[in-house]
Amino acid sequence: MQQPDPKEIMILNRIVVTSVVVMFIVIIAIYLLLFSGKTGQYSDFEDYIFGTYVRVRISSTVNPSTVSKAIFNEMKRLEGKYDPHSENSVLYQLNHANGWAVVDDETLALIDLALKYARQTEGAFDPTLGRLVDTWGFSKFTQHEAEGSGFVVPTMSEIQEELVNSGYNKVAVDYVGKKVNTNGVWIDLGGMLKGYALKRAYQIAKEYDTKCHGFVETGGQIMILGPKYNKANWVIGIRDPRGQPGENVGMVYLKEGSIATSGDYERFFIVDGVRYHHIIDPKSGLPANGAISATIISSDPVVADAFSTAAFVLGEKSWLFTRTVFPKYGAEVFLVTPKGKILQTDNFRFYEQPDK
Ligand code: ADP
Ligand code: MG
Repeated sequence: MQQPDPKEIMILNRIVVTSVVVMFIVIIAIYLLLFSGKTGQYSDFEDYIFGTYVRVRISSTVNPSTVSKAIFNEMKRLEGKYDPHSENSVLYQLNHANGWAVVDDETLALIDLALKYARQTEGAFDPTLGRLVDTWGFSKFTQHEAEGSGFVVPTMSEIQEELVNSGYNKVAVDYVGKKVNTNGVWIDLGGMLKGYALKRAYQIAKEYDTKCHGFVETGGQIMILGPKYNKANWVIGIRDPRGQPGENVGMVYLKEGSIATSGDYERFFIVDGVRYHHIIDPKSGLPANGAISATIISSDPVVADAFSTAAFVLGEKSWLFTRTVFPKYGAEVFLVTPKGKILQTDNFRFYEQPDK
């Protein structure tokens, strides 16, 4: 038998090694193509917080489930801490403190912010309507049929009584002593808490992965984490306040920032043909009736939330104030009047074009 030529063996070995290496590289390349080109892959998560569905759509290098869990946990912490009905909540204790109460840094900052928004909107956003909100009781009911739900329209004298014990001017803050005195009003952060929760959601997502993208949605508000597939606009419909879900009165294109809508169609009751809903005009103590929906686009989700409530209250009658003042605070407005007319601030239209 002929002995194999050692040279041939070496060549054969080389071929085998090279093929293995090439195969390995091809496998890695396929894997990378399939999985790290994950920019197009979004994971969706949902939870029920703040009496509404919270949705996270995210693409991130860190396990998306870990990120969304951290976001939901943070939101649940805020829901519990500022629940005006729970006797153990920080807000309940502050509202029932009788005089000065020491508060934690986060609460002090939130109250300071709420009072600032109240001043900027000349009281249209008023975080001290807790007693009125309680009297109207919208948060307690889920159905829209007043009959059998327990919903009763409060009397004018009840409303007057609660109005006397409302008003952001009554709240005193001691920044050195870190103390707040509500002077009898009940603070209710319902008009901006979801916005703040979205701000925290954004911070948490970016702490895990600065390059993550997607969005977080809480009921009527969206906070964008990053452009769709890291490059495209998210297309967001502004719901027709009198249409079915999916029917829109406007369309916006966003790569960043937040959009919030306050409407009279989320939580309401119709009694004798009158619609009673949960956004209260601080001047009358009655549900505001100058608009049927108000949408704000802002880079800051807390501004978007608070100013959408305020724009709704200010309505058609105070539109000149809204369109002049709101953009100065970084809020662009899209308002639907009771007759269905659309009013918008000058720069809102830039968000209505896909190629900006
Ligand atoms: P939603 O919570 O449906 O998104 P908003 O952001 O407009 O709607 O907030 C409405 C909530 O804010 C009410 O449920 C109530 O707790 C509170 N609120 C009602 N009227 C006012 C007001 N004029 N200013 C500030 N907060 C308000
Ligand atoms: Mg709001």
